[in-house]
Amino acid sequence: AYLDRIRSIDNTIGSFVQVDFAGAIEQAKQIDSRIATGQDLHILAGIPLAIKDNICHQDLSTTAGSNLLRAHQSSYDAEVVTVLKGCGSVLIGKTNMDEFGMGSTTETSANKATHNPWDLSRVPGGSSGGSAAAVAGQMCAGALGSDTGGSIRQPAAFCGVVGLKPTYGAISRHGLIAYCSTFDTIGPIGPTVQDVSYIFGALQKDGNIKKMRDTSLRHSSIIETSLPPQASLSCRPYEGRRFAVIAEAIDEGVADEVKFSFFDSVRHIESLGGVVDLVSCKTFQMGLPAYYVMAVSEASSNLARFDGVRVGNREASYESVTDSLVGHFRHSYLGPEVLRRILMGTYTLSSGYSDEYYARAKYAQRLVRDELISYLSQYDALLTPATPDVAYTRGSKIMDPLQMYTGDLMTVNVNLSGLPAIVVRSGVLTVAEGTHLPIGLQFIGKHFGEGELLQIAHIFE
Ligand code: GLN
Repeated sequence: AYLDRIRSIDNTIGSFVQVDFAGAIEQAKQIDSRIATGQDLHILAGIPLAIKDNICHQDLSTTAGSNLLRAHQSSYDAEVVTVLKGCGSVLIGKTNMDEFGMGSTTETSANKATHNPWDLSRVPGGSSGGSAAAVAGQMCAGALGSDTGGSIRQPAAFCGVVGLKPTYGAISRHGLIAYCSTFDTIGPIGPTVQDVSYIFGALQKDGNIKKMRDTSLRHSSIIETSLPPQASLSCRPYEGRRFAVIAEAIDEGVADEVKFSFFDSVRHIESLGGVVDLVSCKTFQMGLPAYYVMAVSEASSNLARFDGVRVGNREASYESVTDSLVGHFRHSYLGPEVLRRILMGTYTLSSGYSDEYYARAKYAQRLVRDELISYLSQYDALLTPATPDVAYTRGSKIMDPLQMYTGDLMTVNVNLSGLPAIVVRSGVLTVAEGTHLPIGLQFIGKHFGEGELLQIAHIFE
């Protein structure tokens, strides 16, 4: 059914860059035969999931949305892929994304643009726009995305689905093509909080703990993610819970419709027994510039390997290594957004400037993190809108990078702090007759507090 759905609608939405039609049926048949022999199966066995195209899968291409990796076939599976295969999930294909995860619209993909299933003239968000659109378009039961500065949560909000950005290090990122390693986090996108909790629960298992230790933190215990059935919830499920609204997140620059929906959600939380305070986060506005300085710096370093010498086809003849070999290779294959970031990152890391930019950004990161953590010692979760605005028209921001970066205001502080956060749909806006757009709400939780965060979001949804 999911494959049929892809065949019938994905040519208009463009969520997938590769669909493994034959392989998916083969994987499903294997599960059928395990059922026939009475084997115990994982809850995700037979469940069709999609994988963002920066996560390595040895039987499918892994392009990270870039021409530079167009022909790239990984020789190994990312650890999350190994784990999902072990659960018996049916991995149906790879989803479109902004090139190397750099963008907020999926328009920087070298493959194609992805359209928002709610309104095809609008962007699905990014960089995991393909994953969010595939879930919203019911072309898979869930998907993996990656979140460096909001790339799971912002597309989840724009496409009206649920996105969980786990605690940094809770999930292995072995086999994820690096963008900014200090923030890169793999996480699930699904139609409901329950679906996301199943996927997150599964991903915590480590396939090969020893080998992959570098990319995940070893936490003493697996986070418990089981949720009560919706029907068994009491009428005041938030009784005893305390929430804080970050005042700076509902300031100017946030669309009125988003604010209205946000305040509706706050009233809803209060009506379910929660206490909601308004707190001021003095470091809130520092997050965005600090994030972008760190992200471009690390990106320029991480992407240095793509030089046409160690990675990529070497030019048959060239006059000089830097200009005509490496320079020509990068300019031929990388898109303008990636080149811009490499240039900015090379500058912010260069001698004489790195103290002024990179070191200051790291200092700001510490301030942002300390402030959020201190509020989380007093509250169960912090609340912000997921995005300052609803999904916008395709092409409207791509030529104005600064405007696009500003859209990450709500999400980046979470990455600077390594905290988990979940986005759910808080409302639906009617923009024209017959056209509706989802509005997202973000709950930020404590480090390794995904279990509690899922409980909180589950009730809301
Ligand atoms: N939009 C942000 C950026 O371009 C976040 C991207 C991400 O989380 N991968 O950096």
